[in-house]
Amino acid sequence: MPNSNSRGRIYDLHIHLDTHSPVRFSPSDYYVALLEFGIAAAGFVMHDAVPAYEPLEGIAAYFGIECTIPRTGARRRKADYSLAHAARGHDLADLVGDMVRERIDILAHPFAPGTLCSDWDYLLDMMSEHTIAIEYNASYGGPDWIYERADANGVQITFGSDAHAPDQLSIDMPPFVTPLSELPFAAHSV
Ligand SMILES: [Zn+2]
Ligand SMILES: [Zn+2]
Repeated sequence: MPNSNSRGRIYDLHIHLDTHSPVRFSPSDYYVALLEFGIAAAGFVMHDAVPAYEPLEGIAAYFGIECTIPRTGARRRKADYSLAHAARGHDLADLVGDMVRERIDILAHPFAPGTLCSDWDYLLDMMSEHTIAIEYNASYGGPDWIYERADANGVQITFGSDAHAPDQLSIDMPPFVTPLSELPFAAHSV
């Protein structure tokens, strides 16, 4: 059942076209599910690669890259936006310099298994200064306090389902998610 986000329209900026198997999806494979959920804006990503653009009628489509940080060799190419995926075993506080250098827009799943943060104050300060948003990831979640602190520090909070297939979409958006129209890369087009 669609829920309504009182602070903005329903969006999902972490929808995979590549998967962890040889299966590939196109944006149109997600179309019916997106409409059913009432998702008004969809961000499609691939790991360390930029997806091919494909418009979807009635849905604002964005195309992004999920960069492994520290970078594993893939070069960043032009995308609407970028997610940072921290490599396992790394400390997010140590990686924020890499995120700034790579001009990352959103730190993806800060609570994915294998990532840690030794200094949230420093991380959020740097993210605020460099306009890097933090993702609320429906697959990995995270404690509300960090998002409340992010909000208080002026760090924007994006929503991502991290779906790797159309049946994994989610619209369980917490109330602290930043409206799409306030995100720098999206503001010009919504
Ligand atoms: Zn990831
Ligand atoms: Zn992902």
